[in-house]
Amino acid sequence: MRVAVVGGGLLGTLLTWRLATGPGRGQCRVELWAGGHRERDEDATTRSGGMVRAYAGTAADSLLAARSLAELRSSPTLRTWAGYRETGSVVVQAAGTGTAGSGTAAALAVVEDLLPGHAACVEAPELARRFSFRDLPEGAWGIVEDHAGYLFPDRLRDAVLSHLPADRVRVLHRGAGSVDPAPAVRPADGGPAMGYDAVVLATGPWTPALLERSGLDAAGYRTKQIQYTWCSGWPAGLGAFTDETSGLYGRPADGGGMIGVPTDLWDVAPSAAEVRDGVTDELRMAVERRLPGAVVLGLRTVPALDCYYEHPGAVLRQVARGSALYTFAGGSGGAVKTALAASRDAAAALLEGDPEGRSAGPAVQLTAA
Ligand SMILES: Cc1cc2nc3c(=O)[nH]c(=O)nc-3n(C[C@H](O)[C@H](O)[C@H](O)COP(=O)(O)OP(=O)(O)OC[C@H]3O[C@@H](n4cnc5c(N)ncnc54)[C@H](O)[C@@H]3O)c2cc1C
Repeated sequence: MRVAVVGGGLLGTLLTWRLATGPGRGQCRVELWAGGHRERDEDATTRSGGMVRAYAGTAADSLLAARSLAELRSSPTLRTWAGYRETGSVVVQAAGTGTAGSGTAAALAVVEDLLPGHAACVEAPELARRFSFRDLPEGAWGIVEDHAGYLFPDRLRDAVLSHLPADRVRVLHRGAGSVDPAPAVRPADGGPAMGYDAVVLATGPWTPALLERSGLDAAGYRTKQIQYTWCSGWPAGLGAFTDETSGLYGRPADGGGMIGVPTDLWDVAPSAAEVRDGVTDELRMAVERRLPGAVVLGLRTVPALDCYYEHPGAVLRQVARGSALYTFAGGSGGAVKTALAASRDAAAALLEGDPEGRSAGPAVQLTAA
């Protein structure tokens, strides 16, 4: 089986690695179209915050995130490649979000099932005492994971790239101009179309434009800008965090941290991502309310894009019925935490001809935190 993976971000690189080193490795040869260097410096993988934890909002994503975290924590190699820092993680929730039957409760049940005792639910006074959160709304509570934190997605990508087996993978430093459902890839720098048994577009925020210029249906795929600011100062005891009640998210770093709030900057073209002052103003207000005095915003603000899909999450998706042209995109601002398991499932689905990518169950040794 000859497979082309287009896009050398975290998802494309991990998928290539899974195909070349996983259970079906004898069956396939992979060509990774790793694109041009300019795009790479601007991709989601390079700019990502890299926060990882087991709880990921929905039950489906939490299954992938818990499996990914378990694999990362149990592999000294992956931990080193990714520069994993176990700072702990907390997700602050509004009152009522964890009630029986809710998505949050279902997600927590999945985490407990896979990693018993890993996540603890704490009330507002403890959030204030342990993590310095101020002015929390009535009834706020938090999901605390001591064995979670953040990694460096670009370091993981580069390490995986340098460990791809040369006899099964060819890395092309070329871009795809367009694709067709045959499936085939037309090089951006000219030359004839190259046919494969399967083609996977792991092109992140470039995915909607690539589908459109190939004359294919891009419905459901959108880009969205994410923007964070480096800061000095960081509350003692606070690791990676997301505060669903204010939108604030961030993580520590050497000498400070990175911190942001969500944006509604949809459908930004990859070449048009730029710092939006309005978002920085919202960030400043949120910081002053929730972490007053603890964090001083720095001068460097980082804008970047990710690919969002109408049903969020990075899984293998068939582009047209009956075609072996797929996307593996739609990380929707959160694919670092699910990438290890999602890439394993996508590789299994490709090799087993399961286009919806639902074939594989947990395939790592799961250990309690
Ligand atoms: C600012 C920011 C912060 C984030 N923080 C977190 C976080 O804390 N935790 C978390 O879990 N997730 C986070 N995410 C999400 C996560 O980083 C992304 O979902 C993930 O990195 C997406 O990886 P990707 O490989 O799909 O896309 P990308 O990293 O964008 O890679 C796509 C690649 O495709 C290449 N390409 C594009 N077009 C072509 C073409 N025609 N031919 C060949 N190559 C092409 C590009 O050069 C690029 O290298 C964050 C994202 C952003 C933007």
